[in-house]
Amino acid sequence: MASKNIKKKHKRTKDQKALNFLCIMLAFVVVFVAVVCVSVNKNNNDLREKETTSSQSSQTTEKGNSKKPQSTENGKTPDTTAPETTQVATAAVAQPGTMDNPTIITIDEEKWYLTLVNSSYRIPDNYEPDLVYVCGSEERLDRKVAEHYEDMYNAALKDGVSLTPCSGYRSYELQERNYNNKVSFYESQGYSNKDAKVKAATIIMPPGSSEHNLGYAMDIVCVDEWFEDTAEFKWLTENAADYGFIMRYPKDKQDITKVIYEPWHWRYVGVELAKELKDSGLVLEEYFGLA
Ligand SMILES: [Zn+2]
Repeated sequence: MASKNIKKKHKRTKDQKALNFLCIMLAFVVVFVAVVCVSVNKNNNDLREKETTSSQSSQTTEKGNSKKPQSTENGKTPDTTAPETTQVATAAVAQPGTMDNPTIITIDEEKWYLTLVNSSYRIPDNYEPDLVYVCGSEERLDRKVAEHYEDMYNAALKDGVSLTPCSGYRSYELQERNYNNKVSFYESQGYSNKDAKVKAATIIMPPGSSEHNLGYAMDIVCVDEWFEDTAEFKWLTENAADYGFIMRYPKDKQDITKVIYEPWHWRYVGVELAKELKDSGLVLEEYFGLA
């Protein structure tokens, strides 16, 4: 009888052990599944975030038939099954507007330096860049651009050339005032309102469509065509791309940019693109496939 009880007790202990083991295993499985779920969810969120950021870019690469969409640049294929991604990607394909009804763009925080503004693409009227004064002057640029301008300015100084900042950032309101004055001037010359607007825009961009409103461009030394005969212009032509700046409105591309030749106007686009544009001779509109 005693031996039977001992056997029973022994069996119960064995069962208890087996049960404990099962419980522990079950707990492991639950923890493992939870970890896998959290990890998968995080990866999805990361991917979605990346795609959202890259597809929020201005019209730029989405429209450029020569450029790949930014979302594939980091080697990741966009997840077309995710509804949010599809929506954002569709919304990012910004069609060019017209002078009277321009497309209002959103600046991609990551690729801000690729932002294209012209009569068809404008920034919102409440856009406020983070501005700093450059080279001890009264002129300001976007903080992200200013450091590159300073580098370029200092390098030129070493070569005995002074890239004096003449006109940097302009507010939306100031641009609007200047533009409207120009339109009025052409109207007074007998142009219709429509023609006066187009003609004025070749000289003073409508508000929101000037690179000066972005704080990405500087008019250097003085605003005159003879600037191209100066040592400053020669230096810029040779070296500006090394600092990320391009001459935005060349003489032979006026039919594409719709802006007069401006040898004094230098715009930051980043070193890589500046060199590419310098070598290819393309303007931004051509680069983005919008010409
Ligand atoms: Zn300018």
